Amino acid sequence: MKKPSKLNLWIADFLSRIETCYHNEANLPDLAHDEPLDGLILTVLSQHTNDKNRDLAFMRLKGQYSTWEEAAAAGAAAVENAVRPAGLAPTKSKRILEILAVVKKDFGCYSIKSLAGKPRDDVKKYLLSLPGVGEKTASCVLLFDMHASAFPVDTHIARVCQRVGFVDERTPAEEICAILEREVSPERYLGGHVNIIEHGRHVCRARSPLCATCVAAEICGFFDFLNGQR
Ligand code: SF4
Repeated sequence: MKKPSKLNLWIADFLSRIETCYHNEANLPDLAHDEPLDGLILTVLSQHTNDKNRDLAFMRLKGQYSTWEEAAAAGAAAVENAVRPAGLAPTKSKRILEILAVVKKDFGCYSIKSLAGKPRDDVKKYLLSLPGVGEKTASCVLLFDMHASAFPVDTHIARVCQRVGFVDERTPAEEICAILEREVSPERYLGGHVNIIEHGRHVCRARSPLCATCVAAEICGFFDFLNGQR
């Protein structure tokens, strides 16, 4: 068996410490949609906005059009109006309609459910080929909607990983994602991902992190730095 690396043990220790606060590894959240295409559209809406505005835009879209076929037929102006609460409505509506058109062309219907049984790398490659779909969006759909191994990296996860010291502050999200997928056991991906986001929102906040009460302070590079230990 391969000997765990220092980084491997460090990240595992960090995940175990924050699990004591948020418990998403013990109680895995169910973030899957019956139709993974719903998860994909929701993730497109989540770009550069908060969960509340994303959810409101998604609810409006699903409320006004009971199928993706109806949304596609409604056209750009109608979809743009429906997703307005998520911000960047012209761009997001254009992407959504482009994705719907490609999915319809590739699968003959507005569903990507049939991807679920395919090899993870093939599914990721397909998702990344869709208009406007990047690493984070593809990883979210894989992890949440297809129960496949992926560790999406958003702004909270990037910030926390950089502060603790798992990566340096210039490391791009794609690289952090590759490091986490290499160093974390796949069974910890979902709970660990959600735990780090919660930690980033509530404790390791962008401004004024609550280091004095953080359960990971003992193993955090930023905390050491603040205390002049290096
Ligand atoms: S000690 Fe501070 S910087 Fe380190 S993880 Fe905790 S809140 Fe973030």
